[in-house]
Amino acid sequence: MTTDSPRPTLVLVYQRTSLPWVFESAERAGIGLVLVPRPDEAVSEERLPPAVVDVLRLDFEADRAGALEALRRRYEESPFQGVVTLYDPAVPFVAEVTELLGLPGIGRDVALGAQDKRVMRERLAAAGLNVPGFVRLDEPADWEKAAALTFPVVVKPAHGFSSLGVTKAESARSLKSVVDEVWRTSESKLGRVDGLVAEEYVDGPEFAVESLAYRGDVRVLSIGYKGDPQGPHFEEGVYRAPATLPDEVQDDIRREVTAAHEALGITDGPTHTELRLRGGVTPYLLEMGARIGGSGVSHYIASGVTGIDFAAQALRIAAGIAPGPLGSEPPGPATLSGSERPSEPVGAAANYIVPCGGYGRITAISGLDELRDDPRVDHVVQMLFPGDVVKPYPDFTGYPAFVLSRHANTAETEEFHRYLESAVRIDYADDTDHSHEGQA
Ligand code: ADP
Repeated sequence: MTTDSPRPTLVLVYQRTSLPWVFESAERAGIGLVLVPRPDEAVSEERLPPAVVDVLRLDFEADRAGALEALRRRYEESPFQGVVTLYDPAVPFVAEVTELLGLPGIGRDVALGAQDKRVMRERLAAAGLNVPGFVRLDEPADWEKAAALTFPVVVKPAHGFSSLGVTKAESARSLKSVVDEVWRTSESKLGRVDGLVAEEYVDGPEFAVESLAYRGDVRVLSIGYKGDPQGPHFEEGVYRAPATLPDEVQDDIRREVTAAHEALGITDGPTHTELRLRGGVTPYLLEMGARIGGSGVSHYIASGVTGIDFAAQALRIAAGIAPGPLGSEPPGPATLSGSERPSEPVGAAANYIVPCGGYGRITAISGLDELRDDPRVDHVVQMLFPGDVVKPYPDFTGYPAFVLSRHANTAETEEFHRYLESAVRIDYADDTDHSHEGQA
């Protein structure tokens, strides 16, 4: 490695400092971070996480060429070893920067397949993986192309994230209005829309899989349960890992996820996969992101299950350093072992996303403060507060709070989540219409 300073440095694009995991992992890994905050985030220089060595303001969405140039200049003045992001829309930009500067990365073409849901579907299908019937809709008038699919059908933006705009159409009759609505929502919420995907609804429970790849070897770290959301909109809810599934089904998931890395060409770095088990048994990928998921929540989950510092390993790979030993392997340069069964979980970890449970002006959020003192709870990340206005779907406002917790096993996690359902409450102003309550 050629560097002026002994401490490896990475540029971290668009990570909020309120979500601490990746900063903490960088510190443990001895990696310095040049933080590129989100343009809308005011970061106070005095309260930056210790791993942050500098702050660089860029807006790659408003001025991509300017952002690339600024990073190129910065690299010439003071070289860094890599660039990373946990923000899905920034994955192609990061791939472009690293390719331009000759730094470790997945490259632009692979990033395209991991970020554009049309390309992802095409590449997974070409590799013979389980893919539901799908069509790409390059303009709203293309909606009729989706009428031949088997309903229900899910319509979503090609470049979406956080389920924004993702909507289920129950029948061909509602297809045109759903496509129009998803197009409108994507325009207003994502700022740009250059196409949608319509695909058959995969019926079965949902799972998230956290993996780490290094030089083409893929290690599946954890498989967690994500509920069974039925739509028409897909607000995220629970995430409990490890999932309780028969060994054969877990093996099938690991095989499918490993094969998807190969199909998409993701040989290095972390991935976050979402899939459903059709008929409760057959894994169908919904998407695979070439990043740590959930703004770092995926690190919390995978580390809680394996005892491995997932984000630290991912940051090392991004800096061109071999990951340390993983799991029970002997120390030394790691080889990650494909779809082999992983070591036994060291514990259970979970995220509970407090549901909005209605919309309007929030008057009170109760139950969260008590949780901060609960020994099972490591973090309560609150994002909405009294006074904030929650808009009804599809105009999604955001999640009220995350409750991240660790437990001895998944049965205890389930019990804790049942308790949270009644312990945390959001009240809205009386003039609010609650007819959408309970909508997932
Ligand atoms: P995003 O990247 O915006 O999160 P996803 O493709 O992951 O978009 O879709 C968001 C959610 O919508 C998924 O987590 C899942 O619950 C639901 N969903 C998307 N596609 C399908 C599908 N084909 N079948 C069933 N549910 C789906």
